[in-house]
Amino acid sequence: MKESKNFIENIIDEDLALGLDKSLLKFRFPPEPNGFLHIGHVKAICVNFSLAKKYNAPVVLRFDDTNPEKEEQQYIDAIKKDISWLGFKWDEERFASDYFEQLYLWAIELIKNGKAYVDSQSSTAMAEQKGSPTNPGKNSPFRDRSIDENIKLFNEMKQGLHDEGKHVLRAKISMNANNMLLRDPVIYRVIKKEHPRTGSNWVVYPLYDWAHGESDYIEQISHSLCTLEFKPHRELYNWFLKQIAKPSKLKPKQREFARLNLSHTITSKRKLMLLVNSGLVSGWDDPRMPTISGLRRRGYPPEALQEFVRLAGVAKRENVIEASLLEFCAREELNKTSNRVMVVLDPLKLTITNYPSDTDEMVLSENNPENPLSGEREMPFGKEIFIEQEDFKTEANRKFFRLTIGKEVRLKSAYIIKANEVVYDDKNNVVEVLCTYDPKSKSGSGSEESQRKVKGTLHWVSKKGSVDVKVNEYDRLFEHASPSTAKNNEDLFQMINPNSSKTSVAKAEPFLSKAKKGERYQFQRKGYFIVDNNETPLIIFNKTVGLRDNWKK
Ligand code: ATP
Ligand code: MG
Repeated sequence: MKESKNFIENIIDEDLALGLDKSLLKFRFPPEPNGFLHIGHVKAICVNFSLAKKYNAPVVLRFDDTNPEKEEQQYIDAIKKDISWLGFKWDEERFASDYFEQLYLWAIELIKNGKAYVDSQSSTAMAEQKGSPTNPGKNSPFRDRSIDENIKLFNEMKQGLHDEGKHVLRAKISMNANNMLLRDPVIYRVIKKEHPRTGSNWVVYPLYDWAHGESDYIEQISHSLCTLEFKPHRELYNWFLKQIAKPSKLKPKQREFARLNLSHTITSKRKLMLLVNSGLVSGWDDPRMPTISGLRRRGYPPEALQEFVRLAGVAKRENVIEASLLEFCAREELNKTSNRVMVVLDPLKLTITNYPSDTDEMVLSENNPENPLSGEREMPFGKEIFIEQEDFKTEANRKFFRLTIGKEVRLKSAYIIKANEVVYDDKNNVVEVLCTYDPKSKSGSGSEESQRKVKGTLHWVSKKGSVDVKVNEYDRLFEHASPSTAKNNEDLFQMINPNSSKTSVAKAEPFLSKAKKGERYQFQRKGYFIVDNNETPLIIFNKTVGLRDNWKK
């Protein structure tokens, strides 16, 4: 069978066929440390790291830290943690800020070659002269400054002698270029703010287009892969490289792939930051956030995220992937790997009137039928049992296969019981159900009765030995399928689901009193859950996904 390749692999194979030395292949993932990584970044990470694996080439983790107004050390730390957790190891860790000196020297070279000038107009004046895609722009009155004056002014900018916004350094390309990005783009501006790494050493900071390609060149990245919105930047990327690249060195190649867009959520650090700052979520790692840290706390295994990105594919055209695909990937992985346990989320008490009150009977339950090596564990059975409120109705139609008065159900891994009588409180709520059990029907006992088929099987927890646990259940953070279309912040807030989280105290089997942070379980019939934190008196579980796709359109 012919191995299928994505279009980036085709590009690389072509380059190799045309004579590129395989040992020169090198990739990078270049996050700006201005927020936490989200599911969209998972795609860029997987694209680069998978290529590196496939071609046995290195990957650079490069922090694109050229704007001290937005970047912070806490984001650098979080990004590293998230990539490692996803299961990837970078070969080199770099910072664009390490190249400030080299970039500055190259800028001086541009000025000396008549390819850059200091403009002293306001940004509005510069914007007015830009023209439009159909109309040429106008030259700045400062475009023909002498080389000496340009060098003097740029060095004054560098020394902090000028206020922010007074002067910028622009590349001198053309004000008539069809590609608007080539109309003398700004490459340096003055920012008087401490940089998390270079402190107050620098006052002039390079802009993205100038810093990015040059960083790729310094690191000798062979294929600089970015998202489609950078396609128009490619011409500028190449123009800058042409000014500085030595013929003996590899010239990086920028290629673009489609962003990953996910329904019912947003993949923009800026908007995610807005949710954090507005207090609508508890932080970047709120389990409802599409950030890697949020997905981790929600219980998504890294394998599920990788598989999701693989299924979404590497394409040249933008599309929106259904959030249910991500949930599907989580379920598939968790079904294989999580042990089954019994937890009753909304307890109703049953008393088995014909069961002795003084036994220490244990029943055996399989940990994971999908994994024969996972073994079995014991659970206490007893006279008093909890089942879910929703699994009992005094009367019900024939389609209700759970417990009703006069009918039988099986308690999973235990006995068949029959409901006989209901105990009400003074407000007429059912507070207890009196049942009887069939002592010969114990699961796995080999008796004829143990094989007896009844319509319903319920999960349950014996009151004896049960532990109270806190359970957080989530719904989608956005009711709206495409919150990225919000026109403004208010509009975005309107799209939020007001009931996206619910907390309750549940009854869990005794085994879970020893559950550790990060462990994932399937609560029988309820879904997949992860231990969030066990330092509080009650163990906390976060729901990852239900067992089935319950999202109703
Ligand atoms: P955001 O708009 O969320 O801030 P960004 O593109 O500005 O995203 P960067 O930190 O600059 O964030 O991104 C690092 C890399 O991740 C870039 O190569 C970028 O193209 C890629 N990336 C960002 N968002 C997505 C996405 N939704 N799908 C695929 N790749 C993405
Ligand atoms: Mg960016």
